[in-house]
Amino acid sequence: MKELSEKISKIPSSATIEITDKARKMKAEGKDVISLSIGEPDFDTPAHITQACIDALKNGKTHYEASQGLLELRKAISEKLSFENRIPSDPSQIVVACGAKDNIYEAMEACLNPEDEVLILDPSWVSYEPSVRIAGARPVHHSLRAGDFQADDTILEKINKKTKMIVFNTPSNPTGSVMNKASLTLIKDICEDNDILALSDEIYEKLIYENEHISIASLGDMHERTITVNGFSKAYAMTGWRLGYACAPLNITKAMTRVQQHTISHPASFAMWGGLAALKGPQACVEDMRQEFDRRRKFLISELNRAGYETAPAQGAFYAFLKVCGDDMKVCDEWLTKALVATTPGTAFCSPGWVRISYAAGMDTLKEAVRRISETG
Ligand code: PMP
Ligand code: GLU
Repeated sequence: MKELSEKISKIPSSATIEITDKARKMKAEGKDVISLSIGEPDFDTPAHITQACIDALKNGKTHYEASQGLLELRKAISEKLSFENRIPSDPSQIVVACGAKDNIYEAMEACLNPEDEVLILDPSWVSYEPSVRIAGARPVHHSLRAGDFQADDTILEKINKKTKMIVFNTPSNPTGSVMNKASLTLIKDICEDNDILALSDEIYEKLIYENEHISIASLGDMHERTITVNGFSKAYAMTGWRLGYACAPLNITKAMTRVQQHTISHPASFAMWGGLAALKGPQACVEDMRQEFDRRRKFLISELNRAGYETAPAQGAFYAFLKVCGDDMKVCDEWLTKALVATTPGTAFCSPGWVRISYAAGMDTLKEAVRRISETG
């Protein structure tokens, strides 16, 4: 057989998915593994959302839809972005895709040329760099400020004429930190002064415990150069539905839609009706889940601190990010093989020396995981 794609051969597997698959395999072999390696709410999708999808299936919503996404859903997303996030938008600027991950990939394909550089603010989620590389452009990394994980003007050291886009995530996976207004204003100024696009991944927006969520696209004219990515996976416990969305300037949405037309066409029609129910229906379920995550966050962070671990500011999302002694890959491997607790090494997020623990798991499970980790050391 002839050689497979050289580009893809250089792209690593997704660490979050690979480690979780390994933990799943160990469980299937009868090992009592606690899996805290994937960022997935352990709650079921709220019943009214599931019911809306079942109704849609029964009512024949089983046909192709507009490739950009169901118009009713795009209208609801556009209203949500205007009222909650203060991002001026029109349904024509929304693309509904198979998860925020798909939106990010489409945005890269739509915007990037081979000579372009994309500045990724680290610690960064595992799929940003691969999606830049799949789109054929060059990823460049820059670490957020140690300690508070906010942006500072050292970012300018990595900006040049080739810089096309800055990618960041708030609240952050993996650190849990939330970008403050000063950080976002600094990124805004850099983007405007240097004609750079921002890709702002806001998928953990609803899971916030300290500080407030600010969308960079709400600041001044930033909506004219920002791709805001969000989705249903985390806020509404809808990971398996594969439903996300992006809001961008019209020329970018049009290009993203063309990518979509030649790849996925659109997400499952009935899933989009579920997404509409999520946005339009009662929001108490989101608050209930947030409060439960907050309870677990307080427990896990205080236990880890008590055990002597330094942790990143856990202000949002559902991750504890802790500093470890030595090689984080080895630490995670030991925790998995000896303590039977699956976690993700910071190296996967371009931050060696750290480990990410997801607290999207029941309190008893977390207590047991902490006990096992402390015993292993
Ligand atoms: N962005 C971040 C930061 C994430 O953690 C995830 C994890 N699922 C995604 C995007 C993608 O979410 P989904 O594709 O499930 O909407
Ligand atoms: N985003 C989640 C995580 O970081 C889910 C897995 C993935 O898509 O990477 O664990």
